[in-house]
Amino acid sequence: MAQITVDRKLCDNHGQCAIAAPKVFSMNDEGILEFEETFDDALLDEVEEAIDVCPVQAIFVKD
Ligand code: SF4
Repeated sequence: MAQITVDRKLCDNHGQCAIAAPKVFSMNDEGILEFEETFDDALLDEVEEAIDVCPVQAIFVKD
């Protein structure tokens, strides 16, 4: 398991991460980002893709 943090001050809620890694990131009914704080290592590629596509580099992962 790895842990995710998102810097809410940077995040603009445009949802690119939710497209790249929908099992981990999603947008709620108010259009605000929600995410799993931990994820299975099998999803690491998807999460790395989400990190790459985030336009403001707001996503951070630590083991
Ligand atoms: S891609 Fe980045 S800025 Fe966009 S919702 Fe996800 S964390 Fe926020």
